[in-house]
Amino acid sequence: MLATAQPDIINDKKMKKYTLSILLTFGHILLFGQVNKKLRIEHLTDNFYVYTTYKDLNGFMFPSNSMYLVTDNGVVLFDTPWDTTQFQPLLDSISVRHNKKVVLAVSTHYHDDRTAGLEFLKQKGVKTYSSKLTYDLCKEHNEKQAEFYFDNDTVFNIGNYKFETYYAGEGHTKDNIVIWFDEYKILYGGCLVKSTENKNLGNVADANLKVWAPTIKKVIKKYPKRKFVIPGHFGWTSNEGLEHTLKLLRQNK
Ligand SMILES: [Zn+2]
Repeated sequence: MLATAQPDIINDKKMKKYTLSILLTFGHILLFGQVNKKLRIEHLTDNFYVYTTYKDLNGFMFPSNSMYLVTDNGVVLFDTPWDTTQFQPLLDSISVRHNKKVVLAVSTHYHDDRTAGLEFLKQKGVKTYSSKLTYDLCKEHNEKQAEFYFDNDTVFNIGNYKFETYYAGEGHTKDNIVIWFDEYKILYGGCLVKSTENKNLGNVADANLKVWAPTIKKVIKKYPKRKFVIPGHFGWTSNEGLEHTLKLLRQNK
């Protein structure tokens, strides 16, 4: 009896663990809407999260990456959801998960995968920012505009965190900036940086293919130690996005 009882106890323990992990996963799915693949939120490091929304492009759910940071003084968004149905769900998910409000948002270029939610956020009392160049291009191209702009590379201090914007030159668009978190060695690249999953440069309608590579090289030189590199679209678990973008640019010649 004893000999057979022991494995049962182990199995029961395993089963409990298994059930718990299913419940946790299921709760996570319900909370963050991963079932319908509309809004995906994943932890990056410390208080940084990558969130992804999708747009149906000819039947393919095309992902767009953004990021948020939870600080003592509220949450900062780096770019807005692309999917316009996910503005409120994002704020709700952040509120449920962190019990905090979004207070600041920075858009990294004028395309709608970075800016679609700016007006919505402004209405919610969020301070929205972009560079002056992006601010002007939003107006010119009829995209949503930030409330405030900065003329030059700018250091933001919020709560216990600090980050800087950097404009290295034209690339995916003429206004694309990156954001650097020195303490955590995170480079938020936006659409200037391609994912290592990408086999080509994607949408280059507004790109400057002549200077994109020198622009990337400037970023590499300025931030040589990169632990995390977040591209605008597709997988972000590799930190080789800048090198991969250079490779794609070479192949494109
Ligand atoms: Zn993009």
